[in-house]
Amino acid sequence: MGKKKAKLDQIRADILKNNICSDLAETAKQLVMGDGNPGADIIFIGEAPGKKEDELGIPFMGAAGKFLNEMLATIGLERKDIYITNIVKYRPPNNRDPNENEKAAFLPYLKQQIAVIKPKLIVTLGRHSMDVLLPGLKIGQVHGEPTQYNGQVYLPLYHPAAALYNGGLRQTLLDDFARIPSIIMKI
Ligand code: URA
Repeated sequence: MGKKKAKLDQIRADILKNNICSDLAETAKQLVMGDGNPGADIIFIGEAPGKKEDELGIPFMGAAGKFLNEMLATIGLERKDIYITNIVKYRPPNNRDPNENEKAAFLPYLKQQIAVIKPKLIVTLGRHSMDVLLPGLKIGQVHGEPTQYNGQVYLPLYHPAAALYNGGLRQTLLDDFARIPSIIMKI
């Protein structure tokens, strides 16, 4: 486990050394890497840090993070039982969507994080992280369906922030979330 942490720290150092998305780095307060347990079976991958995450340097600490924590509790998990990160690791100005260049620039580092953690299950939150890892899928069609790709099991889910403002989506996300334990047991 200490080894994994050291490797994750090295990925962070490489992002800084290689000046990835230097324009975002200038407007953001800090790089937001990951949180949770590097030895976890599940990694959750979101979009990009928001205001709170930018301030604290930890992903999913605002309203979406609170909802995510509540959903984790419904399946008996806490943040320390999972690992969580984002595709883009700096807050985009005014919380705009990350663009294609930004996602492409961070993708090699996300892949390195995944290679270190070696999760059984990768849960993508929203379409940005799904697009880079499972290109060509439509979230409306595949959400909640475990998907094998290159020998890795993925579960695409709606983003908790989207579900916060849409009651129907909220229940869909809760229902999809409830499938995680049985999916994990079958891997
Ligand atoms: N939304 C995300 O996608 N990531 C965060 O870290 C916070 C909100």
